[in-house]
Amino acid sequence: MAKGAEQKENNRGNGESEGESKIDVVMGELCPVCSKKSLTLTEREQEIPYFGKVFLFSMTCTSCKFHKADLECAEAKEPARYSIEVSGSDDMGIRVVKSGQATVKVPYVANIEPGEASNGYVTNVEGLLQRIKKQIEVVRDTEEDQDAVQKAKSLIKKINRCVWGEEKLRIIIEDPTGNSAVISEKAAVEKMKVKSVGEQH
Ligand SMILES: [Zn+2]
Repeated sequence: MAKGAEQKENNRGNGESEGESKIDVVMGELCPVCSKKSLTLTEREQEIPYFGKVFLFSMTCTSCKFHKADLECAEAKEPARYSIEVSGSDDMGIRVVKSGQATVKVPYVANIEPGEASNGYVTNVEGLLQRIKKQIEVVRDTEEDQDAVQKAKSLIKKINRCVWGEEKLRIIIEDPTGNSAVISEKAAVEKMKVKSVGEQH
């Protein structure tokens, strides 16, 4: 059935603010960190082409600045591991879905570990690299060990060179919940074996 002109998706930019989905907002909730009634909850849906519908949640406290965001697929997915080599502008717009349970590895650069403090979001390769860069910038700006500062500076240069297309980086995203993906034909996808407790290594 014709559904009118299909809008061509613009993949550039940081990829985190687009989409015309409606947002449910609840304000004045109790903050789990500072116990003030200044927590805002949001929930929205986003349809991700070639992946499906995801629900995005966030909690933000205006008093203590606590912030947590995560996402979940509408359909249950298999645990999966995505791997992609990226470089330059063509790859920077590739859509990335990352849940709070995902481990992101950029070999020889840095990792994003899963867990309580880890956020879930929809972004693109460039947005993901910028987040990793910010993480390394914190090290550069706060570390007292000069070797660590030098190492951070060279990693930041490496990321910049990748964004400019002068160097290749591999991005690996592993998510035992299956709520993460790299949406590109270039990405290799494997089913992930989830180790159960007591299973031999
Ligand atoms: Zn708070």
